[in-house]
Amino acid sequence: NVVTSDVVIIGAGAAGLMCALTAAGRGRRVLVLDHANKAGKKILMSGGGRCNFTNMYTEPADFLSHNPHFCKSALARYTQWDFIELVCKHDVPYHEKKLGQLFCDRKASDILQLLLVECSENGAEIRLDTAIEQIERTDAGYRLATSAGAVACQSLVIATGGLSIPTLGATGFGYQVARQFGHSVLPTRAGLVPFTVTDPQLKALCSELSGTAVDCLVSCNDKSFRENLLFTHRGLSGPAMLQISSYWHSGDSLAINLLPDRDALEWLAGQQAERPNIELKTLLGEVFTKKMAGLLCELWCASKPLKQYTPGELQAIAGQLSDWRLVPAGTEGYRTAEVTLGGVDTREVSSKTMESQKSPGLYFIGEVLDVTGHLGGFNFQWAWASGHAAGEVV
Ligand code: FAD
Repeated sequence: NVVTSDVVIIGAGAAGLMCALTAAGRGRRVLVLDHANKAGKKILMSGGGRCNFTNMYTEPADFLSHNPHFCKSALARYTQWDFIELVCKHDVPYHEKKLGQLFCDRKASDILQLLLVECSENGAEIRLDTAIEQIERTDAGYRLATSAGAVACQSLVIATGGLSIPTLGATGFGYQVARQFGHSVLPTRAGLVPFTVTDPQLKALCSELSGTAVDCLVSCNDKSFRENLLFTHRGLSGPAMLQISSYWHSGDSLAINLLPDRDALEWLAGQQAERPNIELKTLLGEVFTKKMAGLLCELWCASKPLKQYTPGELQAIAGQLSDWRLVPAGTEGYRTAEVTLGGVDTREVSSKTMESQKSPGLYFIGEVLDVTGHLGGFNFQWAWASGHAAGEVV
């Protein structure tokens, strides 16, 4: 009693559903299997419930991978404009929040709904609550043992995503399948994730300023992002920190410029000449919140009237403001990370079709691959583009 299908896709997330609607649209018989009780849980949670479904300025440079050229072909063949066209076809209202990031006006379920409608109209079948127990190659393709019985197919697509947020159904299953068929899996780590701090002084500062956001330029390992830093009870978050976390390795220090629009020393020296009697913390309180200004002074130097600082002291303060070095203790890990860095090595996968070069008829799409986008809708654009690339050929 074996169910047969042309294509079986494991994972009813963003990439799996895009692949399903594309392949079914070509007339292929498609079966999507997922162990979760609901399709697209991450889509529903994404973008604070509004799903940042793509970015108008998507470029290959917005993605991290050991093989940076890999993402180019799929991104060029299914662009942000193609997905926007699909969104418009379904009359889903959306807006640009900032930096080309497109969000639903209403809620993320609008995006999931349009994918499910397309799947259903094209005849793709989705089976939830189905655990995959075993996969083997056959002459005709692949045969799966599942909790709902045996399934046979010509093409098998792995769309099981990464390890982030296990409570939303994330597992390392895709990596296990990749290894089973002879693929290398590059080391994985949490990306787009808040930092934790343990240094007592820094921890106290973060905790006291919890909820405060400040514009900054953060740099690490030759990469910089200009965005907001958000202090939290546990450490450092906000878009600037999430972005740089993908470039950070344990032990690295972050360089934070809290005055990204001015030359700190020139500004301090100018203020010293113009307003010699103003206290440093009062001056900083004009740029940051009063509380933050006071706490920064406590951390770095005693606050006194500007005229009392020597040129050397002023230079040191300018250095702290424009190049604040701190070493996070770690990150919050997969529990809160938006994405997983690393994964199935793309050097063994076709960039045109996402087909395995080790096992014909096997495909990997979405986050399970070693392709990770910046914050801002890029990860969904990769899911759509890679899902579409495979959907056209499976
Ligand atoms: P997923 O969407 O994770 O789908 C994988 C599917 O596989 C799931 O349905 C899962 O249940 C299933 N699965 C896993 N293991 C098994 C198994 N063993 N057997 C059967 N099924 C299995 N990106 C953006 O671009 N914009 C955003 O606004 C955004 N917000 C985010 C917010 C949060 C909180 C998180 C966690 C991520 C966010 N992301 C965002 C990232 C984005 O959600 C992912 O990059 C994207 O969902 C990856 O798509 P995928 O299809 O590869 O994997």
